[in-house]
Amino acid sequence: MKQSFLAFRTDKDTPHDADSANAKLLTQGGFIQKEMSGVYSFLPLGLRSLSKIEGIIREEMNTVGAQEVRMPALTPRQNWEQTGRSNVDIAYTPTENTVLGWSHEEIVTPMAKALFRSYRDFPKCLYQVQTKFRNEPRAKSGLLRGREFLMKDAYSFHTSPEDFQKYYEEMAKAYFRIYERCGLKAYKIESGGGEFSKNISHEFSVISPAGEDVMIFCECGFAKNKEIISESAKQKVCPDCQKELQESPCIEVGNIFDLGTKYSDAFKFHFSNTDGIQKHVHMGCYGIGVSRLLGTIAEIHHDETGIKFPKNIAPFQVHILSLREDQKADEIRQELEEDGFEVLCDDRDESPGKKFADADLIGIPIRIVISKRTLAENSAEVKYRATGETHYIPLIEIPRFVWEFYTDSSPT
Ligand code: ATP
Ligand code: MG
Repeated sequence: MKQSFLAFRTDKDTPHDADSANAKLLTQGGFIQKEMSGVYSFLPLGLRSLSKIEGIIREEMNTVGAQEVRMPALTPRQNWEQTGRSNVDIAYTPTENTVLGWSHEEIVTPMAKALFRSYRDFPKCLYQVQTKFRNEPRAKSGLLRGREFLMKDAYSFHTSPEDFQKYYEEMAKAYFRIYERCGLKAYKIESGGGEFSKNISHEFSVISPAGEDVMIFCECGFAKNKEIISESAKQKVCPDCQKELQESPCIEVGNIFDLGTKYSDAFKFHFSNTDGIQKHVHMGCYGIGVSRLLGTIAEIHHDETGIKFPKNIAPFQVHILSLREDQKADEIRQELEEDGFEVLCDDRDESPGKKFADADLIGIPIRIVISKRTLAENSAEVKYRATGETHYIPLIEIPRFVWEFYTDSSPT
């Protein structure tokens, strides 16, 4: 795409109310626009990156056999009365009889009840990527805690706790694959009441000073929620590898829960077993904050000049900067697009300084500069955003260079 065509505007000044790196950089880079506290619009650049996160999540959900549905945001209040959750503080209730969905157990359970009746219909898992509404008392940190935000929520249905347990483990593995593909190292932490709660649940968290939670962790992957630790014995060394444990604030980017029969009981969702006897359906639920993930990626991957997007999340894969060599730059853009790459070509009538600054802010992983100077040697300057490493390569080698960068399995 030609950048002169793109609907965006960068801003070199920090927004006055930006309270976090992601709010600052995503706003300045022209990815998002704040509408009010905890509510953002996604501009073309932001939506491209958000859609890439969604795409990765969809692929991994489909891999574990979950099937995508779309439930409404506007939901009937009576469903929430049935589970005793009609009066929670965070719920927006536009009218007396409606609730804006802040979670979807109340919708998915009756939906599954209508679909699955016999033991032969199980197991099943339904998921959606959908907007959630929560009247968060402390909406803050850009995309990290919104009042309207995008979530992936999945719900699984089983004929036994054992079957649920097996699926739960598969889901946890899918979660690790999602975070890795997003360029994030996530730790799986026992949550809820931990050892005091009867149903298992885990949070997936990423180390970041912007996080609201605190975890005790070890590089090897062991991690615990700090609150849970202080309740029981204080641990100093990792029980898995004996290294000294560290402590850090962290961002919760997802969680998985054993719901047991809480919701299936509330909606009298039963199935008939091989002997025709009615049995309880066992449920699990699995959430990921999709828009929070974009915020987290910006928190983890940036420097003072802008975002450094992981390969799979960048709004475009290649950024060509034309320093008054628009024709050649456009030829290279078209060639790379024919090879299947997503290319943004800065053909705007702007100074080189402005083009470099904007490219740093937007954070596309590879930048190719075409100028009179590089063309004099039939070459281009190629720079990796993540490392700052720069190469001068012959024009003819650009496609191979880009291809090699993107076929390398590392996500950053
Ligand atoms: P938190 O403790 O951060 O409030 P939660 O326990 O309320 O999260 P869930 O209701 O299970 O979270 O939601 C699933 C996922 O959705 C969370 O793991 C998180 O990544 C994301 N999420 C939750 N609340 C918000 C929010 N207000 N804004 C953005 N993402 C959110
Ligand atoms: Mg919450």
